[in-house]
Amino acid sequence: MFLASDKASSAACHDGFALHLMEAAGDAVFRLDSKGKIIRASRRSGELLHFSILLDGRDFTDLVPLGDRAAVLDALSVAAGSEKPVRMVSRVHSAQSAFRWFEWQFSAWQADDATEILAVGRDVSIQHDTEERLRHMATHDALTGLPNRALLSDRIKMAIAQSRRAHGGFAIVALDLDGFKKVNDALGHGVGDDLLRIAAKRLREALRDIDTLARVGGDEFVAVLPGVIDEPEILLIARRLISAIQLPFEMEGHALYVSTSIGAAVYPEHGDDEVKLLAHADSAMYRAKELGKARCVIYSKQKFDRVEHDVSMEAAMFEAIRNGEFLLHYQPIVDARTRTIVGFEALMRWTQPELGLVSPAQFIPMAEENGLINLLGGWALKAACMQMKKFQEAAGRKLYVSVNVSPRQFRNDQFLKAMDEALVLSGLGGEQLLLEITEGILMSDPEHAERLLTEIASRKVRIAIDDFGTGYSSLAYLKRFPIHALKIDRAFIKDLPLSVKDAAICNVVMSLANHLKLSTIAEGVENENQMQFLVEQGCALIQGFHTGGPVLPELATELLKSKTPVVASPALV
Ligand code: C2E
Ligand code: MG
Ligand code: MG
Repeated sequence: MFLASDKASSAACHDGFALHLMEAAGDAVFRLDSKGKIIRASRRSGELLHFSILLDGRDFTDLVPLGDRAAVLDALSVAAGSEKPVRMVSRVHSAQSAFRWFEWQFSAWQADDATEILAVGRDVSIQHDTEERLRHMATHDALTGLPNRALLSDRIKMAIAQSRRAHGGFAIVALDLDGFKKVNDALGHGVGDDLLRIAAKRLREALRDIDTLARVGGDEFVAVLPGVIDEPEILLIARRLISAIQLPFEMEGHALYVSTSIGAAVYPEHGDDEVKLLAHADSAMYRAKELGKARCVIYSKQKFDRVEHDVSMEAAMFEAIRNGEFLLHYQPIVDARTRTIVGFEALMRWTQPELGLVSPAQFIPMAEENGLINLLGGWALKAACMQMKKFQEAAGRKLYVSVNVSPRQFRNDQFLKAMDEALVLSGLGGEQLLLEITEGILMSDPEHAERLLTEIASRKVRIAIDDFGTGYSSLAYLKRFPIHALKIDRAFIKDLPLSVKDAAICNVVMSLANHLKLSTIAEGVENENQMQFLVEQGCALIQGFHTGGPVLPELATELLKSKTPVVASPALV
């Protein structure tokens, strides 16, 4: 990536060839004396920084904003006394914008009788901004800009730590909009989204700056109120929140009315950890709904007994596994260019006798919590591999199946055994199975992940990172672990191709994948415009309602047998 190795550059800089090299490089190249004064800057340096002034003779740190100077000086002095190059990222003044981000490599070399430093810099502003945006997206809700569940969890942990130190407390308030679903169904998602944005703004304005307001679900919000522990104070704040939502929402010429039901729980009285506090605030909120909505209920140990509820749910799930109420739907994964099916993602469903189809978003977290996910996940692996064998026979060609693996399953020491059994039982080759895991799984215990992934790779089973970009922490793991594909999350696909920022993110993700020789699968592709954009960007595989939603195996078999592409390319229409 960089211009030349240290030894080569140090020798080469002595002659005209070095000058030529400096000028030919696509990166910014500076020759510095040991104090950091610029002896010579390549022409490209001036271009990259959009400076027309002569840089030769200036201090190198003049290029860097004040806040970054100490770190750059530090790196230069380490480099001057070391044989190894020193790398760092810093901001750099730019005549065009406030500043840009540069990745530097400083390497020392001996010129005649003095030590000089060769500084090679690459503009990484786009990657940097993208990473910042990914980080923001990972912690904020895209619709309202409010903190999301992940950031809420951090804030609650912080509030607990502060309360412990100060022997104080805080309140957690769970809010749900009453009547929102009706607005959404009757007037469409566009109006629903606008209403949520306005509601979020009103709730935010009714709270203090030190309070956190997060959006944790469709029309569900949670607020953390540091220092608020007394019942009258909680009720006062709740009344403010209820009034803010009760004002009419003027939309498309209609005045819409919704209300909010509120449940509250107090630390430490009602729970000493995040899970208990949220669960208690939630059950208080449901009680508020039962009591007639548009009111606030504060949790009380005597009146609420949630533990019993959890136990009965666990029993119901266990019973459901025995009764065969779980099944798998299969969603086509389509080659972006040929538009033919190359595989399926297996997605679990629960058909409850009274409720009908229950979404995995509802029961997977519960199964993860009560441990039944190991049983369910093991079943899904086997069922998916067996079904894939049948799909292949029907299609007369090789296909692959993608199976989701949850964190608790991945940590379970029986996982490998379950996977091996699924492969043996079905007779499917390892290369026809792809496991979908999330970034969080890798980061929580990297040593375990490395061991398990190596075992998995030795069976030729491939790994994809699901919902890529939403659990972002560091990209370093992509180099460390044997990973084969990135599934770009629907959040980045949704507003394509109009959203410039999402387009930039998809672009960077695909060039990153390309660079690391990973395949990319775009999730949640819902229309031809998105598909066209992704094909042009070099995305290999497409999954979404546009090329087919999750269906029962019988229908999936029909799709496979059909000779025509799943959706026609506009070029063919
Ligand atoms: P996921 O793995 O990211 O799966 C993609 C989800 O997006 C699926 O939701 C799918 O139905 C939905 N989807 C696909 N195309 C589109 C589209 O074009 N537009 C929109 N709006 N949605 C689309 P589903 O089936 O409800 O599954 C939700 C999540 O539940 C999955 O997300 C996965 O994390 C989890 N899950 C599903 N089955 C299993 C399983 O067998 N084991 C485990 N551990 N988790 C599972
Ligand atoms: Mg998935
Ligand atoms: Mg996904």
